[in-house]
This record gives sequence, C-alpha cells and structure tokens, in this order.
Amino acid sequence: MNLADVIVDVPAMQTDQPFSYLIPPQMKVIPGMRVEVGFGSRQLQGFVIGIQPAPQPLPDNIKEITRVLDLAPVLTEELLQLADYMKETTFAFKITCLQTMLPSVMKANYQKRLYLLNDAAELKAKYFNNGDFIDFDEAQNNGWLKEMAQLREDGLVELRYEVHTKNKVKTTRYLKRTFDLSAKDELVATIRKGAKKQLALLDYLANLSEAEKIAVKEVKENFSLSILNQAEEKGWLAFEEIETYRDPFAERDFQKTTAIKLNDEQQTAYQAITEKVQTEEHRTFLLEGVTGSGKTEVYLQVIADVLKKQQTAMMLVPEISLTPQMVTRFKSRFGSAVAVLHSGLSQGEKYDEWRKLERGEAQVVVGARSAVFAPLTNLGVIIIDEEHETSYKQDETPRYHARDLAIWRGKFHHCPVILGSATPSLESRARSQKGVYQLLTLTKRANPQATLPQTEIIDMREEMKNRLNSAFSASLEMKIRDRLTKGEQSVLLLNRRGYSSFVMCRDCGYVLPCPNCDISLTLHMDTKTMRCHYCGHEEGIPHRCPNCGKDKIRYFGTGTEKVQEELEQLIPEARILRMDVDTTRRKGAHEKILTAFENKEADILLGTQMIAKGLDYPNVTLVGVLNADTALNLPDFRASERTFQLLTQVSGRAGRGAKAGEVVIQTFNPEHYTIQLAKEHDYEKFYQMEMRMRHQTAYPPYYFTVKVTVSHQEEIKAAQKAFQLAEQLKSSLSPQSIVLGPSPAAIMRIKNRYYYQMIIKYKHEPNLHAVLEDILQTSQKDQRQGLLIALDNEPMYFI
Ligand code: ADP
Ligand code: ZN
Repeated sequence: MNLADVIVDVPAMQTDQPFSYLIPPQMKVIPGMRVEVGFGSRQLQGFVIGIQPAPQPLPDNIKEITRVLDLAPVLTEELLQLADYMKETTFAFKITCLQTMLPSVMKANYQKRLYLLNDAAELKAKYFNNGDFIDFDEAQNNGWLKEMAQLREDGLVELRYEVHTKNKVKTTRYLKRTFDLSAKDELVATIRKGAKKQLALLDYLANLSEAEKIAVKEVKENFSLSILNQAEEKGWLAFEEIETYRDPFAERDFQKTTAIKLNDEQQTAYQAITEKVQTEEHRTFLLEGVTGSGKTEVYLQVIADVLKKQQTAMMLVPEISLTPQMVTRFKSRFGSAVAVLHSGLSQGEKYDEWRKLERGEAQVVVGARSAVFAPLTNLGVIIIDEEHETSYKQDETPRYHARDLAIWRGKFHHCPVILGSATPSLESRARSQKGVYQLLTLTKRANPQATLPQTEIIDMREEMKNRLNSAFSASLEMKIRDRLTKGEQSVLLLNRRGYSSFVMCRDCGYVLPCPNCDISLTLHMDTKTMRCHYCGHEEGIPHRCPNCGKDKIRYFGTGTEKVQEELEQLIPEARILRMDVDTTRRKGAHEKILTAFENKEADILLGTQMIAKGLDYPNVTLVGVLNADTALNLPDFRASERTFQLLTQVSGRAGRGAKAGEVVIQTFNPEHYTIQLAKEHDYEKFYQMEMRMRHQTAYPPYYFTVKVTVSHQEEIKAAQKAFQLAEQLKSSLSPQSIVLGPSPAAIMRIKNRYYYQMIIKYKHEPNLHAVLEDILQTSQKDQRQGLLIALDNEPMYFI
C-alpha cells in the first residue's frame, strides 16, 4: 500500500502542506496528477506531489483518494520542483503556485449537489427529476432549500461538493466504410426502388479505400444526417470521434522563410550561444542590441539548431509585442512546430495549444509571461525578448518574475537562456557587468540600408507660449504634413502612464472622484461616461459641477480620443488609426488595426504604449512622442529607466527600411539626461548615469527590495498594523538593512480599502525569510479582523 502526498485546493496557511491519502490498490496514481479527496466534510481537488510506502500499521483516520482526475500527470517532475522554488521566492501558497502553472480551463470547478440517500420514489419524482441528485442551485431556484434542510436532518439527503474539470477536448466526427466491397451488390439489392440517395451513398462509400476516414461535415452537403445515421444502423459505415485542436492560425498561410546570412556581430552572438546548445551547458546571455539589430534573426537560428538536435525551445515575449507579425515570423520559419500562447486566445484554444506542447506535437512555444510554464521536456534554449518589460512580473499572487523562473528552468535542463533587449533592465545589465550573465552586443541595424533615426527634442514650455493647449508643436505638425505629401507614414505616441483625461470645474477646481477609490474618474468619449480604472465604477458625464453647481465643468488632460479630434481638425485630409485600450477591447481588434496600417489604409497610427513595441513597417519614417515626460516625474525610482526604455522602443519604429527615419520628442524637461541620452540612442551612457543615481540612493541593483502592503476598510486599522509591522521588521533585521515607511500607498484607497506600505531594502539579510514567514503566519489571525497583508518580492512599482 502506498500513500500519496496531496496539496489540497484551500489557499490558507493551515493547509499549506501536503496531506497523506491512501492510494486504493486498483488506482493508478503518479505525482503531478490531480485527484479528488475528502477534506473535512468536503470533496476537494488536490495535486499529488509525492508517493511513499504506507507505514504499518496505517495511521488512524487515514482517508482514501476518492478518484483521480487525470489519466496522466498534468505537471512534470520538473514543474513540481519549480513550484517549490516559486513558493520560496514569492511567499505564495503552494496550491496557488501549482494552479498558476496550468491553463485556466483546468482550474477546478466545484459543483454543489444534493443526493437522495434512499429509494423513495415519491421524493425522486418530486424533487430529483426521478434521478439521484439535484444541483444545489436548482433546488435553491425552485425554493426547496427548506425542504432539503429537513430531509437532510432526517438523514435522507446529503450535500456533496463535487469536483469538475472543464478541460474538454474538442473532437471531430469522422466516418468510414464498414462493409466489404464484395458485399456491395448484395447491399444494393436491399435498397428500396427510387431511394437514389441511399444508392449514391453506397457508391460513395464503395469508392473509399479500406482505412480512409472522412470528416462528416465534408459529406453533409450531399448526404443528410438522417441518411448517414440509417446507414450506420444498417452497418454500412461507422462513426468515429477523433480529437482535433482549435487552431487559431489554421486559416492562415505562412510563407516559408529561411535563415538570413548573419552579419559579424550577429554571428559572434550566435556562435557563443549555439556552442552552449551543442555542449548542453547552462549559461545566461544578455543580448543587448539596438532596435532592428537582428536579435530575432539570431533567436530563430539558435532555435533551428535546437530543433535539429530533437530538442524543444521556449520564446517569451511581452503580451503587447505578441503581434501577428511576431507570430508570423516564427510560423514561417518553423511551421506547425510552433504553438502560441497568449491572452488573445479563447480558453479552449489556449488549452489546445498547451496540449500540443504536452504531447510533443509542437516543439517551440511562443508566448507571453505564463508560457514560462509550458509543459516542454528536453528544452534546448529559452529566450526572453524585451527582458526589461515589467509585464514579465505577475502583479497578483503568486508574484513571480518569468525571468527568474526561466533561468531556473535553464539550469534544470542544462541549456542556455537568452535575455534580449535594446534597453536591458539595470538589474540584468549589472549582472552581466559582474559576469553572472554573459554580455553580447549588437550595435547597428541589421538591414544594411537602415540607419538609426535622427531625433529632435521640442521644448514644450516654449511651445505652449504660442500654441495654447495644443498637443502638437509647430515642428511636429509640419513634419506630419510633409509625410502626407510624400505618402509616408507616421506613428504618434501618447504616453498614458501617469496621465489621463478627467473633468474639472473651471470655477472651483473640483475634480470628479471615484466614490470607492482615491483617484479621479477618467473620461471615456466612446461610451460617454466617466470611469474608474481601478474598480470599474461608471457614471454619466456631469453638466454642472457637483460641488459649486456652476456649469463651468470642462475636460482636462489629453486622452488619445481628444488628440485624435485635434489632429482631425488640424490636418483634415489625414487618415488616422487609433490604438488604445478602448479601440482594442474586442478580440482581434488589435490585429485589424495593425493590418490596416500595414496595408497603408491610414497615414497616421496614434496610440498608447501598445504601439511602441515590435512593429516593423518600412514605410514609417516619422515617430512623434507627444508627451515624453509624464512618467518621468512619478515618485518611483524606476521612472527614468522606464522613460528611457519607452523612448528608445518607440523611436525604434522609425527608419526600419531604406527611407531614413526621424523622431520628434516633445517634453517639458528637455535637459533631462534621460531625454538627452534617448536622443543619442546611448544606452550604455544612460546605464552608467543611472547606476550612479541608484548607488547614491541605495536602490536596486545595489539593494534587494521587498514591499509589504497592509490594507483594511478602516484607515486607522491599516495604519496601526503597518506601524506595528515596521517595528517588528526594524527590530529583527540587521542594522545594514533599511525599512522605508510605513506610508500611505500612492493611491491610498482602492475599492474602499485603505493601503499602507513599507519597503525593505537589504544587501544580505539571513533573517529575512524567517521574519517574513513569521509575519505571514500571524497575518492569519489578522485576516479574521479584515486585515490583509501582501508581500511583493522585488516589486516592479513603488507607487
Ligand atoms: P530586432 O529583433 O533586433 O529588433 P530584427 O531581427 O527584427 O531585429 O531585424 C530587423 C530587420 O533586419 C528585419 O527586417 C530582419 O529581417 C532584418 N535582418 C536581420 N538580420 C539581418 C541580416 N543579417 N542581414 C540583413 N537583414 C537582416
Ligand atoms: Zn474606483
């Protein structure tokens, strides 16, 4: 007899450990499978993480596993170990880590059912649709809960929680001939005269070869389902359900591409990486290459080598760069070996892509953050493109960073990991300085005709004196007009972070706030409403100021819609496409806009951050940044780094073809080193300057950080707990570590909860883990009083 160690589906401190269950002798259980187990009075889903011989005699009260939910493990031995590492580094519950690794359709779904325990026909007919059970919800809807409660008390009915998994495979119905050809004439003789369709069907079937299978939907046009069903009954044919995949790219034709001859810099980088592929050694490379320097071509050629060795490859890209263009580049090179995982797919499509990888039918995954959990075995290379992107960090529990997990997997598989970027995070660049990563650089654009664009900086303080309230400087307007006459295209970026449009009363200065959060409501012209970006609260646009009653209420700030309106007035002949959260909400909208722009159906693409990445259109010769510095002055130590990255990325969209590109940056801080160095495309200098700042202010990469957040519905409770925790931290950490705060979070109230936070900065802190574990342990008690405590290891945002 064996025991299974099971992690049950209850994310709480007391249950954050394996529980033992007996494996019934007839049941096949393997670590990584999901099972259903009795836990207290409930049936729960659980993950088997280990198996061991049962001690004799058996412990008292040991329960058996109720049933298994999978035929084979859904998590490999490797992924089970990765969950341990994830738990250790994110302070999340083990069950949360395990569930995060699976596609969302595989999440357990609990169904509450009332079971009748005896055979009383009367009760069966009255409440149970003549069966054994009824869904709890149905009983409730019928108003029978009182009766059920009574029946339960009498011992006649039981309430059970049952686990259901939604991961349905999709099947297609096929048919095949089942009669022998020699029997055909005999069959024809059985057909009644005039039944032409039946005769035609027999002929059709007789023409199929022995093992041939035809999709039913293909013959449906000629033969009705009733004829086919009759034929089945007569034994002419048999149906068979064959598993198929929902393939989101099935309709698409991908032109085959082959490797481009690499230039010297690319060749050097490629050589260094592929050497590790061949020797199967782990090494993390930082591939620092200017925009358009051919990083992607290097990835493609390394992956080709990996596939040649019968190994698999993982390529992570930020969600917003996972454009059709990017997918096409991979599909055109590797065809159906590529599976794509991103949030634009339906749950079913995602699950199918996942299964192709699991079964080894696809060997390359291209996907966003959570693709780091792709069930690939025998990995030969892992690539993280745009490694500096903050979206690689999940901003809810478990707060993991895909880069860390990718490197862990690289070590496990003894394979190289490539971090690629034009503007590496300071952390990664510093690590390559110390030799932890190996630095590879690409300094020029790969397309021999392309050059890095010229950049002009516009001082908007001066500009504002002449052109009041306009989002466009004279110079930018002129350049847009110039492109129009030449038939070239422009990309305009409105930096949304730290910026939005709101309404304010010109008389009393009142700004319409969200009733639940400490933030002003944002104006949405498409729905003509005011909306809160945190809690979703929505209300109409006021005509009178709710504070002073005057009708002086006006729009402020510059949303993309308002800029579009201004641009339409300024240059009526321009054809404009707008891309922001509002125009891309529907599935496929993102792709549609980009395709239209690529087909030159518009002169100008105006949008937010989402246009900054990955686009490669040779006809774009002008990039305008309308407001370069809205994020520059945010109270976050990464503000400069983010601004530099954004300016570099968006500038990189210009001049990718033979036509030279130009960039216009409008700013209120023209002297700022971030703006100046972005203009020079000088990442290395920026890195040096920024490192000096980080050193002076004791921030990463010189220090490690942990953010501790406390929230409660009453401000005073949150504040008190925060101060108490700060004391606890200060007294237990070493004197070299720094605890900042506590202070109210930048947006102190969200959804009617108040947030206080503190930041721990440390270089070497042996006590840290124990202290934080301790805080989490006691936080269980606090939770009952409505206090929530969250830990964020290496937070991306400080505000
Ligand atoms: P990155 O990923 O660094 O932005 P890409 O791989 O997208 O760069 O390359 C930019 C452009 O240069 C693409 O159109 C690509 O086809 C082209 N390219 C890449 N490598 C070469 C090369 N060795 N010779 C010529 N063109 C190249
Ligand atoms: Zn709100």
